[in-house]
Amino acid sequence: SAALSIRNLTKVYNNKFEALKGISLDVMPGDFFAVLGPNGAGKSTTIGIISSLVRKTAGDVEIFGVNIDTDFSQAKKYLGVVPQEFNFNLFEKVEDIVLQQAGYYGLPRDYAKSQTEKYLKKLNLWDKRSTPARMLSGGMKRRLMIARALVHEPRLLILDEPTAGVDIELRRSMWDFLREINEAGTTIILTTHYLEEAESLCRNVAIIDKGLLVKNTSVKNLLQGL
Ligand code: ADP
Ligand code: ADP
Repeated sequence: SAALSIRNLTKVYNNKFEALKGISLDVMPGDFFAVLGPNGAGKSTTIGIISSLVRKTAGDVEIFGVNIDTDFSQAKKYLGVVPQEFNFNLFEKVEDIVLQQAGYYGLPRDYAKSQTEKYLKKLNLWDKRSTPARMLSGGMKRRLMIARALVHEPRLLILDEPTAGVDIELRRSMWDFLREINEAGTTIILTTHYLEEAESLCRNVAIIDKGLLVKNTSVKNLLQGL
């Protein structure tokens, strides 16, 4: 089955604003997939629905064949999400933030600890483990969100505008890191409004505009059509 399957997804905010107008999309296992579109296109709404943080109006979402409505507790194990905005408690310590997420996924205590160490090291944050998150730079906070999303080693990682506002050096190192985990087998979907980011990282792409899917093709084909 697909890593992610979306069928006829719609979202109406406040009973009047149609942010998603029936989007259908499949992302295959192992893919590195870009969701491209201008501000307001509906990218964050789509990710919010997939991670069950935003209630959809209609449609279906399956993650590795598991429907998020009928079996969210299974679906969430397959999924790691890096939201656009920092949503951790800034007064908590870096290590505790990741450990808490491991608890949310039901990892046993010892495994949670070793996974937290593994991913804080991978993201170059291990020496900051006892630092309150509010003391971290913007780039470190972003890396913390990635460590937190990976602690349970999800099969599907979704990142919402991972490099928005990130300097060029960190952007390059995040790109290398994401390539590495994709090569190790994790399916990755990211949203971006930089064509350059999709071009550098992704194999396939969906373009969303005003709540509609306007294109779904390989990045190679997209660039040839320009
Ligand atoms: P993108 O991530 O592509 O920039 P969003 O999914 O954030 O787009 O937003 C899509 C549309 O839905 C925008 O017009 C936005 O203003 C609107 N929208 C997003 N969140 C809400 C909300 N909570 N209430 C009302 N409208 C919203
Ligand atoms: P519950 O109601 O089961 O306790 P919540 O929905 O309140 O869980 O989420 C707990 C935390 O986990 C929140 O910070 C939320 O943003 C985060 N979260 C929820 N789903 C996911 C997911 N699939 N991937 C990453 N973080 C998630």
